[in-house]
Amino acid sequence: MLIHLYNDDIHTELFQDILVLLNTQDGPLEFVAAEHDEGPVCYSISANYAYPLNEEEFEKKLPPGVAWKTLLNQIARKKQQCEVPGAAPFFFLTRERNELNWFSFGNEYKNHYIHCDHWDYFIESDQRYPIAFLVASDLLQSFVYQNMENVLKAVHEETKGCLMDLCINKRDINMKMRTADCCSDCMDDIKEAINDGRLVAAHYLQLMSILESIRQQLLFKSRYTIERKPSELKISGRNKNIHFVQLGNLELKLNPLERTLYLFFLNHPEGVRLNELADEEHYNEIYQNYQELSVVLNNEQIKKSVDQLCDPLENSASEKISRINSKIKRALGEELAQNYLITGARGEAKTIDLDRKYVIHSA
Ligand SMILES: [Zn+2]
Repeated sequence: MLIHLYNDDIHTELFQDILVLLNTQDGPLEFVAAEHDEGPVCYSISANYAYPLNEEEFEKKLPPGVAWKTLLNQIARKKQQCEVPGAAPFFFLTRERNELNWFSFGNEYKNHYIHCDHWDYFIESDQRYPIAFLVASDLLQSFVYQNMENVLKAVHEETKGCLMDLCINKRDINMKMRTADCCSDCMDDIKEAINDGRLVAAHYLQLMSILESIRQQLLFKSRYTIERKPSELKISGRNKNIHFVQLGNLELKLNPLERTLYLFFLNHPEGVRLNELADEEHYNEIYQNYQELSVVLNNEQIKKSVDQLCDPLENSASEKISRINSKIKRALGEELAQNYLITGARGEAKTIDLDRKYVIHSA
């Protein structure tokens, strides 16, 4: 089932990161960008995006937000423009505020509003976590409660660390993310929804594992600032997929050639210069690994890619390395990423810093 996310006016990179985060857990739900003919929107952080406000100012200074009805109409129009089927879940990610200052809301047409601004004020973590968290938990709510009226009846005004907490005090969203769980009342509603066929069990399980992975990532990151202990890197299966174990099993999504190169450097803690990739031993190792990982290419195509990658006159290896590094930074954030990057000055040996005791291979 496709879940459509529309980027109204948020930073393109943040929007992409949210999609990546939502798609890290396997299952039948796939989160995709909704776009229309005008093409994808491209916004950069504007001056008023992150202006600091203290608590009093925050309450006082902001003009009243847009009425829910107006926003929902706008969302319905966008959904149509993007040619998203009427019954499909559609999430409108925007910095536009709403009249009641809610983080998010949705209606029976599966149209959802998610507020994507001022998060730096309420939470300490990076913004993609609360936004992805809201998308996943709102989707679950809409399967279970179907319309806004039922949701309003079911929400808890008092914060108890349940997904259905209203979080009137906005800082309470932290507590919701740190539990990522339901109270027993809400659990009964979920069971009933599964029995009635409103909620597919596999959808429920996937959404809960997304929420759980966000929870684990938040906890791990806050511990990391003190402990400085990186997450284990698990290399598993025939495709040698790469996962960060203690980060909710977050997958580092690399294409087969990037994965080949990354695994090569993991396998060489001593470091290798790019102009040594063409050395026979290195070339053969890369060739063999790529042959294993690439399922669609024939030998001739594999040889061509590996030749190019290992050619000291081509820029291919260094382009791949910078793509791999930017994927790692986007998955982990700048600080934690340092452990896993392929680094080394131009012309010098490239290495991955990570202590190899943190690398585990599993079948
Ligand atoms: Zn509850």
